Formats: sequence, C-alpha cells, structure tokens
Amino acid sequence: MERWSELELHGWGRYPRLRSACTRPERVSEVHAALADRGADPLLAHGLGRSYGDAALLEGGKVVLTRRLDRMLDFDPATGWVRCEAGVSIEDLVNTFLPRGFFPPVVPGTQFVTLGGAIANDIHGKNHHVDGTFCDHIRRVELLTAAGAVVVCDADHEPELFWATVGGLGLTGLILSCELKLVPVAGPLIEMESVRVENLDHFFAVSAESAAFTHTVSWIDCVARGKSMGRGIFMRGRHAAAGAQASPGVLGGVIDAVSPLMQVPMDAPNWLMNKLTMRLFNEAYYRKQPHGTTAQISHYAPFFFPLDFVRDWNRVYGDRGLLQYQLVVPPDPQHRAIRQVLEAITETGMGSFLAVIKEFGDRAHPGLSFPQPGVTLALDFPNHGRPLLDLLDRLDRVVLDAGGRVYLGKDARLSRAAFEQMYPDLDRWRGVRDRWDPQHVFQSSLGRRLGLSGVRR
Ligand SMILES: Cc1cc2nc3c(=O)[nH]c(=O)nc-3n(C[C@H](O)[C@H](O)[C@H](O)COP(=O)(O)OP(=O)(O)OC[C@H]3O[C@@H](n4cnc5c(N)ncnc54)[C@H](O)[C@@H]3O)c2cc1C
Repeated sequence: MERWSELELHGWGRYPRLRSACTRPERVSEVHAALADRGADPLLAHGLGRSYGDAALLEGGKVVLTRRLDRMLDFDPATGWVRCEAGVSIEDLVNTFLPRGFFPPVVPGTQFVTLGGAIANDIHGKNHHVDGTFCDHIRRVELLTAAGAVVVCDADHEPELFWATVGGLGLTGLILSCELKLVPVAGPLIEMESVRVENLDHFFAVSAESAAFTHTVSWIDCVARGKSMGRGIFMRGRHAAAGAQASPGVLGGVIDAVSPLMQVPMDAPNWLMNKLTMRLFNEAYYRKQPHGTTAQISHYAPFFFPLDFVRDWNRVYGDRGLLQYQLVVPPDPQHRAIRQVLEAITETGMGSFLAVIKEFGDRAHPGLSFPQPGVTLALDFPNHGRPLLDLLDRLDRVVLDAGGRVYLGKDARLSRAAFEQMYPDLDRWRGVRDRWDPQHVFQSSLGRRLGLSGVRR
C-alpha cells in the first residue's frame, strides 16, 4: 500500500499553502511505521488544521494526519479522567461526554481541534482567568520521540519533556495519547450575560467586575476611534445549574449538538472585505446589543463556538486568505499598548472584522506556551499582502516594547528576531528539544522560519 500521498495543506488562514507527503494512520503501529519510513525527510503531526498559519505545515517534508487516531481508551466517571488518542477532537469529547454530565475543562473558539493540537499550542479558552490553559488539566502525555521510543511524561516523570511539549508546536515528538480531566456539568446550558461596553476603559471596568463569572470574552469594534475606541460587547457566563431552562428565542436553545447551519460554498471575491463592509459589519454588530446588560440562558454551542455554525467561514476572506494576529501584553493601568495597536489599525484602515479581547489570569507555563498574565487581543485581517505585513511588523514592535508576545498557533509571518525576544525561555526549550531530538527529525515550516528547526536530521 502506498503510505505517502502528496497533498497541499494549509491552516485556517489558508495562507500559506504548502505541499508535503502525507499519511493518514488509523493505528499507532502505523505512526511508528511512518517515523521509520520517512527516509531522510523531517516529520510533523497535523491535527484538524485549525492553527492559522504554518505551525502544522512542513513544506517538502512528511506529515502525519492524526485525525483518525481517535480512540477513547479509558474513562473514570467517578473522577472525570479520560484517556484518549491524540486525534480525538473537542467535538468528539463533547458529543460523547456531555450526555454523561461532563464537559472539556478548557475549549477554544471552535470545537474542531484535536487533543494533540490543543496540547501542542497549549490552548486557552474564555476561562483562562479561573482555570488556566488546556494543559493545566492534562496529567499525562504519551509521546513518540525522534528515536522511535514511546515516552510517558507528566509534571513528575520527564517533566522537562512534558513542559517542552506543552505549547511545543509538535517539535518534541508526536503525541499519541493524553489523559485529561473533564469537569462535571448539569447539562448543555450556559447562564450568560452580554454587556454593551462603550470604550476601552469601560471594557476593563466590566472585566474587573466579572471575576465571579468563570468565562469571559469581549468582541471589540476595532474600526471605532476617539472616545469610542474599544467599544464592543462583553460576554460572560458559566455552566448553568441543574433545572435551568433555555431562554425562549435564543439561538441554540433547542439544539442538541453543533451542526453547521450554513456553509460558505466558494471563495468570496477578494474585494468583499473592504473598509466599507468592515465599517458596516462592525457598526451593525455593535448595535445588535442594546445599552446595558442582557441576561439569558443559552446552549453551549453559540456561547463557546459561534463561528462553527458557518462551515468554511474562512472562505469569506477570498482566495488570498486571512492572517490572524493574537497578542498578549502584561497588565498596564493605562493600557498603552492596546491603545497603540488599535490606533495603528484605524490609522491604516486595515481593520479587523473579528476582534476579540480578554484579560488572562496569572497562570503561565514555561517554554513556548503563549498565555501570560495580561490582556490578549486577537485580530483577523484579510490578506492585503505587503501593507498588512508592514502593519503587523509595527504591531510587533508595540508588543515587544510592552513586554508581550504573539501567539505562534495563529502566526504566519513573525520574524525570527522578534520571536526570540518575545519568548525568553527559548534557550531552555531548545536545550530540552535538542536532547530528545538532536537531529531535528520533527520540524515545521513555522519552526524553520523562526529558527526552531534547523536543517539537521
Ligand atoms: C475559529 C477558531 C477559533 C480558535 N479559538 C482559539 C482559542 O480561543 N484559544 C486558542 O488557544 N486557540 C484558538 N484557536 C486555535 C486552535 O485552537 C489551535 O491552533 C489548535 O492547536 C488547533 O488544533 P488542531 O487539531 O487543528 O491542530 P493543527 O492546527 O493541525 O496543529 C497545531 C499544532 O499542533 C501540532 N500537533 C497536532 N497534533 C499533534 C500531535 N498528535 N502530536 C504533536 N503535535 C501535534 C501541529 O504540529 C501544530 O504545530 C482557534 C482556531 C480557530 C480556527
């Protein structure tokens, strides 16, 4: 049987698109065989391709598509601990365990991510300020290393390898399985409030008074300037208690699971995402929330995964794709860096349709994990080519001056020099990775761009 097929792969931003020889194993034995059969080529795992840029791409190398490694191996209903293969997705977990009264402890803004991808990017959710990242709820990872050994690592056993793998972008080995602690919930409903915020100061005031909510996030209108800069809609919620009833008329109040309600059937024309449509979208979205606070009981899907209702929504950005830029900067009472970023965006007119802002909690992990205490802002830009790249370079300087960093799981263009300043634990991470993979068998296009993956193998 032919093991490797040449495929063009891309991340969620559809930029860049790169060719690799791919294999789609269904069993762990086939993963071992793929490692043995890679010849002189480097290797990389690719989950559901929901990182935006080139983290899950390896031009000219060998890529293991992990989605079919999706067995659930063990579950303890008394504690919520579940052991799964790395290709299991958040969607699989929710569909399997919500009917049994459990929910994943941390979920990103889409349910279409694998557990391997969630660990390799140490993903965060709306509850970072309370529960930390996804990997704060992982107790064990089974890793296939470059030497072909299966190493079980956790915070006590091979802790350095464990922490280098957390947020390690697939460069320490291929995650075969993990153990994750699910949280008990009464049902699928979320008790939530939406608050219209008038500007950035108002956002921080609402955020400060929302500590009692386990989940918080805010959409921000990044076209608004002057006194309205930072206006948006703040959403906060928690899993609803037993007996809660969905509010009438709430989208999702009657649905059982997330299934896309519509699909973007083809690439939209590149001109669709222009200054005018962006302004109209941002204005209309802002106006949909009345003044003050509204409360409702919602299904989990529109609260956690609103974009999953539109399949292939990334095609709206046209065939040039989109770039996402997510930053975190340390706390600052004046919020100077966030203001400078928003000013730079409005000045250039290259606003973002989907901009999300959130205050992280205090928990941070070593290595290449992204979250650190402070404020995170995520922005989607249509790919305008050079002018956009110039703007993002400018934002990098603001982020660096503030002592922050950008999220590598969303990145497609950061320079090596900026990256090395943003991740101060890099040398230690490299040391651990080089001990376990001295020849750099595991590589990625992002790793090459940022100087993480050499040519050695
Ligand atoms: C709409 C949307 C919303 C999002 N919201 C959030 C959010 O709120 N918070 C957040 O943190 N992220 C968010 N993300 C990003 C997403 O959660 C991460 O990029 C995640 O890693 C994607 O998982 P994946 O299975 O698609 O992995 P891929 O994109 O396929 O791969 C990501 C990385 O994981 C590595 N990897 C995958 N599987 C394995 C494995 N088995 N072993 C070793 N390495 C592996 C890859 O090599 C790559 O480096 C969002 C993405 C989208 C599209």
